[in-house]
Amino acid sequence: MMPMHILYGGTFDPVHHGHLRLALEVSERFGNVPVHLVPCYIPPHRGETGATAAQRLRLLELAIDGEPRLRIDDRELRREGASYTADTLRQLRNELGPDVPLVMVLGTDAFAGFDLWKEWQQIPDLAHIVVVRRPGTLLDPEGEPARLLTERGGEAVDASARASGRVIELDPPWLDISATGVRERIGRGRSPRYLVPDNVWEEIRRLGLYGACPVKNF
Ligand code: ATP
Repeated sequence: MMPMHILYGGTFDPVHHGHLRLALEVSERFGNVPVHLVPCYIPPHRGETGATAAQRLRLLELAIDGEPRLRIDDRELRREGASYTADTLRQLRNELGPDVPLVMVLGTDAFAGFDLWKEWQQIPDLAHIVVVRRPGTLLDPEGEPARLLTERGGEAVDASARASGRVIELDPPWLDISATGVRERIGRGRSPRYLVPDNVWEEIRRLGLYGACPVKNF
């Protein structure tokens, strides 16, 4: 069977257990295919990040240590400048060839604004989209993302049968963790322990990220 390539992009500022659990659930759903975490450089629709690109990458490396099903693809960081998913997918499609199923994973919150992305209409021709239901986020039933879901909806199994074109909804258990919440906790002198891996928290303190202070935080 043709190998599948799965991509999961985000700011990862910082990576947390919500991201890591989701990546593993998706990997298992597709037969333990590795999931490539893709940290973005400067998110086009967001402001400044709390850590630099190199620091976010370092935290990701620590987070996936020892888990072969989770990998990092740092091409957006190496490319620098605004990270557009369409560019990343086009680059990967060139590398993989026309037949390898390529899957892009994102939460409902990210998918809700999908039609604001650069060249979004071309994305379904480059990859399958896996939308992971995020509690509390509803799609506008009249909007383009909802229309895409209706027109191109499919099951996980459909993704391995063709290279791109399906929009697949998954509903794995969702941990109620956000990077914003992690940053806020740290900024207030509280501990994000058990929300992020211990080695990630240790490195955040060592680097003094997000206002962490080795004396104040523990
Ligand atoms: P922030 O709070 O800074 O907005 P975030 O925690 O939502 O960050 P991002 O890096 O912006 O994380 O998200 C990357 C992707 O991960 C998005 O597609 C988002 O839907 C998904 N995601 C975020 N939090 C979780 C979670 N708890 N479980 C599963 N997926 C998540």
